[in-house]
Amino acid sequence: MVAAAQAGHYEPAQEFIDNPDAFPACHTKSGKPVRYLYGAHIIGIPAQSTLEKNKVTGEYEARIIYSPGFNKLSVEEQRFAAEHECAHHRRGHFEGGLDNMSAARRNALEREADCEAVLALRKKGAYTPFQLKQGMATILKYEKSIRYSSGPERFAIPCGALMMQPYKV
Ligand SMILES: [Zn+2]
Repeated sequence: MVAAAQAGHYEPAQEFIDNPDAFPACHTKSGKPVRYLYGAHIIGIPAQSTLEKNKVTGEYEARIIYSPGFNKLSVEEQRFAAEHECAHHRRGHFEGGLDNMSAARRNALEREADCEAVLALRKKGAYTPFQLKQGMATILKYEKSIRYSSGPERFAIPCGALMMQPYKV
């Protein structure tokens, strides 16, 4: 998911989420570390990536924010979701802002984040198609929306092909 920063109270995510795979080593395109936060007020999505402007320095802080729903996902889903959000930052998806982004562009970025997540997981080990299916179990139930492909489309088109490529560390 991609969302504009919301006002609200955030806590360090590590205090609320036990799965270490939820915190991949993640940096922005320009090499800045990504901060992991937890927002008890966030509903409807497991996680979101935001860029938060520091009012004093004017610098942007890259954040991945987890919701209470994240804790309800399986370990495989948490792993995939964390890598997906990291991928948005690593690729610099938000750096030009989201306000004028077309639905098609947004959709393409989601697919890119899915694929990047698969590649990142494969670099960490022999990530299998079965694990990908486990990691996308909830997503697979999603219906198509204005900005997002349906779950089965997200599973089949970008990452199904990538999974067939030779595995490289
Ligand atoms: Zn996303």
